[in-house]
Amino acid sequence: TSFAHFNFDEPLMHQIRKSEYTQPTPIQCQGVPIALSGRDMIGIAKTGSGKTAAFIWPMLVHIMDQKELEEGEGPIAVIVCPTRELCQQIHAECKRFGKVYGLRSVAVYGGGSMWEQAKALQEGAEIVVCTPGRLIDHVKKKATSLQRVTYLVFDEADRMFDMGFGKNPLLFSATFRKKIERLARDILMDPIRVVQ
Ligand code: AMP
Repeated sequence: TSFAHFNFDEPLMHQIRKSEYTQPTPIQCQGVPIALSGRDMIGIAKTGSGKTAAFIWPMLVHIMDQKELEEGEGPIAVIVCPTRELCQQIHAECKRFGKVYGLRSVAVYGGGSMWEQAKALQEGAEIVVCTPGRLIDHVKKKATSLQRVTYLVFDEADRMFDMGFGKNPLLFSATFRKKIERLARDILMDPIRVVQ
């Protein structure tokens, strides 16, 4: 597979070329077309495999499709991950690729300033990258709403198994333990499984 197979538009392709990625990684080859098709997915791939981009690129396509359909407030895509570091890392990738469409990303994680995060959420963002507890805090305080969310990713899901959210989830995990199997059965609908 080459990048051409994904049919990404020129702004996104330009940014991919700028990153000096010459070809998609295996998880991208398998995962991107599935995520683009709108199917739920479980992706099993190690850190360093390029899995972040595998869910970010289809996310951007989804948001750009969705944005025209649905006016409203709150993020369209939510990425849930277990740690502050991962949160910041994924947020940086979202900004790097999201900026080609003028899309905004906000990172909310435990340990950061509640007030600053709430302010950023209220200014508006199509993408929220979060740790689970802190996202729930902000929703409870009505700093944001999840009613517009139609693209949901649990990254490193093997470290987060006691949550249950909404729609179109993509579940990425480095390992596939029994607990993940159960979580997946609870929240995904007829997922396609991709193992690298
Ligand atoms: P990840 O597995 O998402 O943590 O990505 C690991 C590293 O691979 C990151 O530094 C990415 O910038 C890089 N990367 C992602 N996709 C590609 C690609 N297609 N070709 C080369 N490097 C990539």
